Amino acid sequence: MKVLKFGGTSVGSAQRIKDVAHLISNRGKNIVVLSAMAGTTNSLLEISDYLHKRNIPAAKEVINNLELKYDQVIDELYSSDETKLLASNDIHECFNYIRSFCQDNFTLFEEKEVVSRGEIMSTTLMFYYLREHQIDVIALPALDFMRTDKNSEPDMPYIKQKLEDLLSRNTKASLYLTQGYICRNSYGEIDNLRRGGSDLTASVIGAALGADEIEIWTDIDGMHNNDPRYVEGTKPVSELHFEEAAELAYFGAKILHPTCVLPAKLNNIPVRLLNTMDPKAAGTVIYNTLPSHTIKAVAAKDDITAIKIKSSRMLLAYGFLRKVFEIFEEHKTAIDMIATSEVGVSVTVDSTKELDHIIDDLKKFGTVSVDHDMVIICVVGDLEWHNTGFESRAMEALRDIPVRMISYGGSNYNISFLISKDDKIRALNALSDTLFK
Ligand code: ADP
Ligand code: ASP
Ligand code: MG
Repeated sequence: MKVLKFGGTSVGSAQRIKDVAHLISNRGKNIVVLSAMAGTTNSLLEISDYLHKRNIPAAKEVINNLELKYDQVIDELYSSDETKLLASNDIHECFNYIRSFCQDNFTLFEEKEVVSRGEIMSTTLMFYYLREHQIDVIALPALDFMRTDKNSEPDMPYIKQKLEDLLSRNTKASLYLTQGYICRNSYGEIDNLRRGGSDLTASVIGAALGADEIEIWTDIDGMHNNDPRYVEGTKPVSELHFEEAAELAYFGAKILHPTCVLPAKLNNIPVRLLNTMDPKAAGTVIYNTLPSHTIKAVAAKDDITAIKIKSSRMLLAYGFLRKVFEIFEEHKTAIDMIATSEVGVSVTVDSTKELDHIIDDLKKFGTVSVDHDMVIICVVGDLEWHNTGFESRAMEALRDIPVRMISYGGSNYNISFLISKDDKIRALNALSDTLFK
C-alpha cells in the first residue's frame, strides 16, 4: 500500500481533478490525500480575516465568488446530472456552513472550522468523480482519525488505531480518499497542521500504516538543485538522504513541508516527489541513501533576524551561553543558526513575536545588536568534515556577497550562510553557477 498526496495545483481545476483521477485509478488499494484546490485556503483565510474585522459584507462577497468557482468546476467535471446534483448539494452545504459564521463573534476556533472546508470540498469533488467512473472509492474523513496531542504533534498511536479500524471496516474498497492538512486537536476541536501541512498528513498516514512508499505529487518534477522561483535552469535531484531533504525543506525548499520528513524517516519509508503535469518524469526519491560525495542543492529561508550578544566581560565566561539559550527557551523561540567567538555569540531566529522581550532580557548579560531582513542560504550535500573542497566551493561562489554568519559542522549535510535579503537572488544564482554548472 502507498500513500499518494496531491497538492493544491494538482487538483486546481476540473481538468486537473480528472487527470489526478486517471493517475490514481487502477494502481492498487492506495490511500490518496488531497489538498484544497489552489487558492481556496487563501480565500477561506481572507473570509476569516474579514470576519475577524467584522466586515461581514466583504466576507460574503468572497464566499459568493468562491462558490461560483466551485459551481463552474462541478459543471465541467461531471457528465451526469445526477452526479452534478449530489456534488453540488454537498458543496453548497459547505458554503452554507461557512456562511453560518457570518456574524459578529468570530473566533480563532471558528477560523479553523472555516478553513477546514477547503480540503473537505476538494475530496468531495474527487469522490463523486471517481464514483461516476465506477471506482470503488471509500472516503476516510480526516477529522475522524487525524489528531494532534497536547504538544501539537501528530498523536501517532491514536491515528494508527483509528486508521486501522476505518480500513478494516472498509476492506472492499479499491481506493481510499482523505483530506490533507485538517485534523482535530487534543480537545477534539477542528484544527490544522499549518500551511502546506498536507505533506505531513501523507507522511503520518504512511508511518502509521507502514506504507511501502509515500508519493508527494506536485507541479514540478522533484526537488530541484536550487529554488526555481529565483534561479533559471535548475535541475531535479534524483536521490536525497532523509537528512538532506529535511535540511532543504526546513531552509526554504517549498516543495516539501519541513515536518513531513520525520515520520517517514523514523519508519524508513521512501518519499517520492513526482510531477502531476509530467507523470513520467523520474522525480526525486528521498530515503536512507548513502552520501554521494556531491553537493545536492541550495535553498533559502526568508525573514530571518540575527541577534548578536557581546559578553560584558572580556572573555566568554562559562555559563554565558546557557544564560543566553535559557532566554530563548523562556520565550519559546527557536534558534536556527549559531556562531560563537571568544567575546560573543550570534544567533538567528525566524519569529519576531517575542523579540522585544528577548532583547530586554539579553541586555542583562551583554551588549545586544539586531539585524533584520536577513536570509539563510543553505547548501546541502555530503558535507561530512573529512571530505575536502565542498565548503571552499560554496565560499568561492559567495566571494562578492557580504556574509553576516556562517554555520558548518552542525550536521554532515549542511553549510549555512546568513546574508542580507537584498543579496538573496544574487547569492542563489552565484551558487548555481559555481556548484552545478
Ligand atoms: P503543492 O501545492 O503541490 O504542495 P507547493 O507549492 O507547496 O506545491 O510546492 C511546489 C513548489 O515549490 C514548486 O512549484 C516550486 O516553485 C517550489 N520550490 C521551491 N524550492 C524548490 C525546489 N528546490 N525544488 C522544487 N520546487 C521548489
Ligand atoms: N491547503 C493547505 C494550504 O494551502 C494545506 C496544503 O495545501 O498542504 O496550506
Ligand atoms: Mg506544498
